[in-house]
Amino acid sequence: MNRISWDQYFMAQSHLLALRSTCTRLAVGATIVREKRVIAGGYNGSIAGGDHCIDNGCYVIENHCVRTIHAEVNAILQCAKFGVPTEGAELYVTHFPCLQCCKTIIQAGIKKVYFAENYKNHPYAVELFAKAGIEIKQVKLEEISLISRQSEELAVINEMVQALEQCGSSEEVTRFKNKLQAMGLS
Ligand SMILES: [Zn+2]
Ligand SMILES: [Zn+2]
Repeated sequence: MNRISWDQYFMAQSHLLALRSTCTRLAVGATIVREKRVIAGGYNGSIAGGDHCIDNGCYVIENHCVRTIHAEVNAILQCAKFGVPTEGAELYVTHFPCLQCCKTIIQAGIKKVYFAENYKNHPYAVELFAKAGIEIKQVKLEEISLISRQSEELAVINEMVQALEQCGSSEEVTRFKNKLQAMGLS
């Protein structure tokens, strides 16, 4: 059985969170992990109850949307809100953090940053991460084929049962067919 790696699992979580983004300029998701457990997650969006960029357009000043709080900051603030320590934690984020997020991540005591995509990687952010002794690693999200793989396998099983039936249905084949049906798999 193929198990999804932790890196892929947490990165997938961040990509899932990015789908909740309310800013049309870029959809980012971030997951904070401690000892292989998700402790917080965030996506880029406006303050709770605020106007959404997707409804009202972005509020752009000097080429930045100022309405949104970045995913990384939202995840860290979730920890602040509920009193969860971020010291020594790891962060999985869909895009390389901006300079502001970089400083926030360092100050929150996060020790490792995994990012999926390069995004305007600021040399000063790279320098600050290095100086702070924070490990940066690119983890690209691989195609998650667990579900589609299962359905592929299922299709083969059903095909096999049909083929066996055509060869002359035996009690055994009928038993498997009924079993698949009962499980909602045929
Ligand atoms: Zn926006
Ligand atoms: Zn940022």
